[in-house]
Amino acid sequence: MKTMAQVLVGFKKPLEAQEFDLLPLAPGEVLVKVTAAGVCGSDLHMAGGEDPRTPLPIILGHEGVGEIVEIKGEKRDLAGRPLRVGQPVLWNRSVVCGQCFFCSHGDHHLCPKRFVYGIHRSCAVPPHVNGCYSRLLPLDARTDIIAIDDVPPEHHTTLVTASCTGSTAAHEFDFFPPAADETLVILGAGPLGCFTAALARDLGVTRIIMISRSEGRLEAAKRYGATDILTIKSTTPEERKEFVRSATGGRGADAVYECVGKADVVREGLGLVRQGGRFITSGFGQPGGKMEWDPFWDLTRLDLKCVGVWVSHTRHTLRALDLMKKHLADFALMVSHKVPLAEANKAHDLMRRGEAMKAVLVP
Ligand code: ZN
Ligand code: ZN
Repeated sequence: MKTMAQVLVGFKKPLEAQEFDLLPLAPGEVLVKVTAAGVCGSDLHMAGGEDPRTPLPIILGHEGVGEIVEIKGEKRDLAGRPLRVGQPVLWNRSVVCGQCFFCSHGDHHLCPKRFVYGIHRSCAVPPHVNGCYSRLLPLDARTDIIAIDDVPPEHHTTLVTASCTGSTAAHEFDFFPPAADETLVILGAGPLGCFTAALARDLGVTRIIMISRSEGRLEAAKRYGATDILTIKSTTPEERKEFVRSATGGRGADAVYECVGKADVVREGLGLVRQGGRFITSGFGQPGGKMEWDPFWDLTRLDLKCVGVWVSHTRHTLRALDLMKKHLADFALMVSHKVPLAEANKAHDLMRRGEAMKAVLVP
């Protein structure tokens, strides 16, 4: 069997359509027809050569939903039910060993043997087809697969954002989850910021201040729980700090969530959190610059709880899906552009120019 995939052959070069022969499945492996592949911000960073992990050539795409075409032997979903051909599924984008120190302590996302579809493996080495920018994708036998046939078919594409963005946002809430009467600041109104807002609202938080460059994204963020929006285009850092202080009795935000991945955004965010508050940063999928940091004023004197969030694991994907199922119509609007797989470069351009909240590749 053959598949057509979009391949990153060189940094800052257009993706190229290439045909691949699929290898026969090994026991427990599942072949899926990719029905939607999300274009994540990380894909753009990889294509631009900003992610040191990127092996070339590579089929990008770590966010996928699909339909099972073939199963070698038996494979069960997370709930222990046997999967079947024709079933719509979503899978954890990362595959882990399940046996190392981290896997046995519940930190599967830190497994040193972890690989992610569309990120870690070049298509130059078998089994070649490793990313979601492909018509067909063989899933490693260790992949956590989640059946999504409890969701109406028109929303299967909607769910694609659960696999990376939604999962990473859910991971933020493993640490110091907010109380309902707190005021949060979210920096960045892209999909990650919007998921963060929606998860906070789901926990009962009613005051969520969002700060971003894009006015369009900020308007959209209201749908996910933003109650106050500030664009950096028409406000100064001092004005934003003053806004947060006046909203919190002069104290500063109880928690600041950084969802952009730039050092200067972290720098600003540290100035918005109250004494004794929390700072959670999940925006960095790759290096994003350096900043000045004064341990006395920025950490100790602030009595700050500071957390870096790295990727996610399956429990976070399940949490994101649980949230999305309550608000399918709202999350459907997060997918702003559906682009044919053959026009993957167009989808990258839309995302790069900030015109798309989320572009999704469809067959
Ligand atoms: Zn991603
Ligand atoms: Zn492991």
